[in-house]
Amino acid sequence: MARAVISRDIEEAVRLLKAGSVVALPTETVYGLAGNALIRDTVMRIFKIKGRPTFDPLIVHCKNAEDAFRYAVRIPSAAIRLAEKFWPGPLTLVLNSTRKIPSEVTAGLGTVGLRVPSHPLFHQVLEALDFPLAAPSANPFGYVSPTTARHVSDQLGHLIDFILDGGPCLYGMESTIVGFEKNVPVVYRLGALPLKKIRQVAPDVTVKIHASSNPKAPGQLSSHYAPSKKVLWANAAPSSVLEDRLTAVLVFGPSPEVKPHCHIMNLSSTGDYHEAARNLYRLLREFDAGPWHTLVIHPIPQDPEGWSDVLNDRLERAAAPR
Ligand code: AMP
Ligand code: MG
Repeated sequence: MARAVISRDIEEAVRLLKAGSVVALPTETVYGLAGNALIRDTVMRIFKIKGRPTFDPLIVHCKNAEDAFRYAVRIPSAAIRLAEKFWPGPLTLVLNSTRKIPSEVTAGLGTVGLRVPSHPLFHQVLEALDFPLAAPSANPFGYVSPTTARHVSDQLGHLIDFILDGGPCLYGMESTIVGFEKNVPVVYRLGALPLKKIRQVAPDVTVKIHASSNPKAPGQLSSHYAPSKKVLWANAAPSSVLEDRLTAVLVFGPSPEVKPHCHIMNLSSTGDYHEAARNLYRLLREFDAGPWHTLVIHPIPQDPEGWSDVLNDRLERAAAPR
């Protein structure tokens, strides 16, 4: 197959999606690999392109809350409040699914992950369609999520025809996933919507982001969002690694303490957490593509909004044994 076209042509994206194709689309979180969520064959193609195990359900993207809630039943009142406050935006709600959603999308769990994205191009595409879009991140399963059209093309360009270019993603971090247990909200994946904001609407929210077995969301798997080369926490890195020119060090802020001969990658030299989130996956990809054999990482210092929790969560999974 020829390589995917990278284009800003929304009408072409809509035409392909109506024809049952899978295309990559920008969202405000990361790029998604999108297709008609109501057609089994299209959904199965998404799994195949990503190499995604079929136990890992897909998020269904809808144009507005009213449309999204058509696919859910027994919706908790907290879900409605969260949707009113944070949709469109980087929040996925896991709700009891209707039968309209194929079991492949939900991995047979009986629940469906729903989201209303705020990216203007994604929104325009949804407005032109009369079906919702299943769209997991547009990367091979377990690897770092893509935050530019080029990232998608680098890895999946030979497997798809079309990538809608929306520039770099606003957040560069996946959506926050919230499910409900006995109607009480539970965060299954930290993400671009800060926990603190969720608490303002749902003070009883709990957090379950580490699953030992049978994960509710694969973002809970201990190794995920991971580059292919070695990632080590600084406090676990032997001095030989820290002395090595072929070690890259991921740091944050204006005055990082690192050895002069290591290659320094700064998430944000001004200490801006949003910038760090936007840069994380790009830098992990740069590390993988470059000459360095090991990436040394440092914990991100705490901030009031809770971005450090999200960043440290992704770093932990990137460094987890595979
Ligand atoms: P991705 O879009 O690749 O970042 O992954 C989507 C995340 O949403 C995965 O971790 C899924 O497991 C999670 N997800 C989607 N649908 C459901 C569901 N029905 N129940 C639990 N998690 C879900
Ligand atoms: Mg993903």
